[in-house]
Amino acid sequence: MRPSLLDPLFAPATSLPGVGPKVAEGIARIVPSTGLDDEARIVDLLFCLPSRVIDRRDVTTIADAIPGTIATLRLRVDRHQPAPRAAKNAPYRVFCQDETGEIALTFFRAHGDWLVKQLPEGEMVMVSGKLDWFNGRASMVHPDAMAREDAGGLPPIETVYPGTAGLAPKTLRKAIGAALERLPDLPEWRDRSVNRDDLSEAPPTFRNVLERLHDPEEPDDILPESRAWRRLARDEFLAGQLAIALVRARLKRHGGRSFISKGAGPDAIESVLPFRLTEGQKTSISEISTDLAKPEKMLRLLQGDVGSGKTVVALMAMAHVAEAGAQSVLMAPTEILARQHHATIAPIAEAAGLTVAILTGRDSASARQPVLDGLASGSIDICVGTHALFQQGVTFHDLGLAVVDEQHRFGVHQRLALSAKGLNPDLLVMTATPIPRTLVLTAFGDMDVSRLTEKPAGRQPIQTASLPVERLSELAGRLEKAVADGRKIYWICPLVEESEQSDLVSATERHEWLSERMGSANVGLIHGRMSGPEKDAAMAAFKSGQTRLLVGTTVIEVGVDVPDASIIVIEHAERFGLSQLHQLRGRVGRGAEASSCVLLFRGPLNEVAEARLKVMRETEDGFRIAEEDLRLRGEGDLLGTKQSGTPGFRVARLDAHADLLAEAREEARLILATDPELSGPRGEALRILLYLFGRDEAVRLLRSG
Ligand code: ADP
Ligand code: MG
Repeated sequence: MRPSLLDPLFAPATSLPGVGPKVAEGIARIVPSTGLDDEARIVDLLFCLPSRVIDRRDVTTIADAIPGTIATLRLRVDRHQPAPRAAKNAPYRVFCQDETGEIALTFFRAHGDWLVKQLPEGEMVMVSGKLDWFNGRASMVHPDAMAREDAGGLPPIETVYPGTAGLAPKTLRKAIGAALERLPDLPEWRDRSVNRDDLSEAPPTFRNVLERLHDPEEPDDILPESRAWRRLARDEFLAGQLAIALVRARLKRHGGRSFISKGAGPDAIESVLPFRLTEGQKTSISEISTDLAKPEKMLRLLQGDVGSGKTVVALMAMAHVAEAGAQSVLMAPTEILARQHHATIAPIAEAAGLTVAILTGRDSASARQPVLDGLASGSIDICVGTHALFQQGVTFHDLGLAVVDEQHRFGVHQRLALSAKGLNPDLLVMTATPIPRTLVLTAFGDMDVSRLTEKPAGRQPIQTASLPVERLSELAGRLEKAVADGRKIYWICPLVEESEQSDLVSATERHEWLSERMGSANVGLIHGRMSGPEKDAAMAAFKSGQTRLLVGTTVIEVGVDVPDASIIVIEHAERFGLSQLHQLRGRVGRGAEASSCVLLFRGPLNEVAEARLKVMRETEDGFRIAEEDLRLRGEGDLLGTKQSGTPGFRVARLDAHADLLAEAREEARLILATDPELSGPRGEALRILLYLFGRDEAVRLLRSG
């Protein structure tokens, strides 16, 4: 249970004055929610840090202000001169003065009542904006900010928050101010004798740093390098590392087990494979079997570009575990992928004498029951599925290994979900994201890593070309020939952010258009709005060759495998990110046939889009593409996360705070060495820290022991 002390912070943001559902939605867009749902909480506002400040500390005079630049002035309001009724387009002017002269504040389409309230005659006001001179008279058109001095004037430093699209900065600032007022006094979780940047001053408290960041005294206060931000980063890293360390400690407590295989299981698989393993696959397989044989739990990440052949590595690991008498699961992120994994794995594994099943959320009760029975009795060796595998009602006879195919999302969450269910199998996480080593550390903690760096032999390079959409008909003509030659083609239409509707329309429209040209029997359609069985049918028809051209949205991005598909057209390629283009292109080039990729774009291209298409034409190397992607989009975007911090973090940033990471790991280790259950007074405070940064799954582990 969350300590009640934190309740005010976890109340919905809408409980703040001035925050309605729309504002809350805007907030949720800027900062990912700490809560389990997507609802914005008050605590989320606290972690929404300013990106820059407007510095108004230098108050100047009308005479001294530099024309054409932003000036902050202290003025006395002399008189209002509303626009004459007849001249609708004439401005409303407010004449003000200071000791150096007169200035006209000029407003177009102004609301006179409002201006009279803002700038009452005879009052002293502070005004900030661009000052200009016309015909020897100073004027300021639509000042950026105005405030009466009796109401406190303008803040000398005003914070500006990132990405407040659709959210008035003032509204956000107010909401954050109100959120700060809800911040209760929290016990200190820092050991104040260590990790200090500056030993001469008392280290700032959590409250201090939030107040400082949201209400800075100096512009530098809001830099990531500032003491305040560094303390927050330390806190967040500590929470993350503590969570990871708690998972580890629990895994250890439950003891690992050693799965012994003489190699018969894996050998049986290898003998029925239609190809020879690459060196990288062999190395990874041997690293994994070594882990499996050890009495400790395995926690290993298998990194390999799309098409590098991760599935067979997983299969060998599962065969190893089966030989040792235990069960394995392979969990896929989507239904399609789960079915596809099953379709690939089952014939091979069954030929090698293993029993394979599939379990997804979509199965009928009658299909489900025998699988549940087989899992409980132990007659099923390998079960492929979605997260339905870990839902209630699923019990395993003896689960030894969980393989999680994460494609290109990642997190410690699955691991925690497993542990929370009381399951503690060895764990192999597969990802196609070429995550840099430092990110592996932050997101996964101390995971061992195996990498597949080469593609299976016999693969032909993929020819990649870009083509303006004006040449659509010409392209269609060429594709007609290709279809006549018996080739299979993917045609991808973009998924327009947050607009399933328009994505759907473009895919169906294109499907219709292509059906007319190529004959509707040849052209299939697949998209996210279709039901599961409809999607399966579309995939199956394409796989079997009944349809030759499959029009789809990015549903087919994730790992879909039709080895004899050899052409992919990506429409509106300019809208896709580099790693997504790479993932999509990876759908072809999987067989022995030479493949091609056509990036169909609608010009004019901006610089970044142009650079992306160029990289795509130049290389197929996933690591190079990831690097370019990083360069073109900034680290935060690499994994498609929306926050400004490093992926998986809310305020900490690897670029500015990397030095704090190792320190946090060490500290987490020390803490758990002295107080493994976090039960002392500092332990209590640390639990609060875990909740604050959304690492509370780890707290649950403590209790369930
Ligand atoms: P990914 O790493 O993207 O999950 P897959 O495991 O789906 O890749 O493998 C992609 C394709 O390559 C599959 O059709 C698979 O059968 C094939 N494949 C895997 N390993 C080899 C190999 N050593 N030689 C030839 N083909 C292979
Ligand atoms: Mg795969």
